[in-house]
Amino acid sequence: MLDDLYREQILDRYKHPRFRGPLDDPDARYEDENPLCGDRVVVYLKFDADGKAQARFEGEGCAISMAAADLLMEYATGQTADALRSLTKDDVLDLIGLRLSPARLKCALLPYKALKAALYGLEADPGADASATEGAAA
Ligand code: ZN
Repeated sequence: MLDDLYREQILDRYKHPRFRGPLDDPDARYEDENPLCGDRVVVYLKFDADGKAQARFEGEGCAISMAAADLLMEYATGQTADALRSLTKDDVLDLIGLRLSPARLKCALLPYKALKAALYGLEADPGADASATEGAAA
């Protein structure tokens, strides 16, 4: 029963994402792919003067990867970079709420991986466009 609720949430997020769309002049941007499923996610992060994040995503893929991205960006918005660095895979799976097969786990955690990589880029070179280092990181 609980699974049905979460499944509805996933489909709703997939069809009507709240946090989709690029950010102008982001502090960090990272693109990652899940070749097993064909998912692609771009994460954008921008921090205000208080260090609180604005988070958005773009991309395409299955319902799980896109819904996970939307849920994760919602969670990330208003958080500090330090808080986001301490985010774990289990936190992300709690947001999604569904028990997932190993293949679906890769979909669900793709936005998380991209978020972590974006944060890493932020740390390495604050204020720089992380996309410039994307090739080196891949
Ligand atoms: Zn997928």
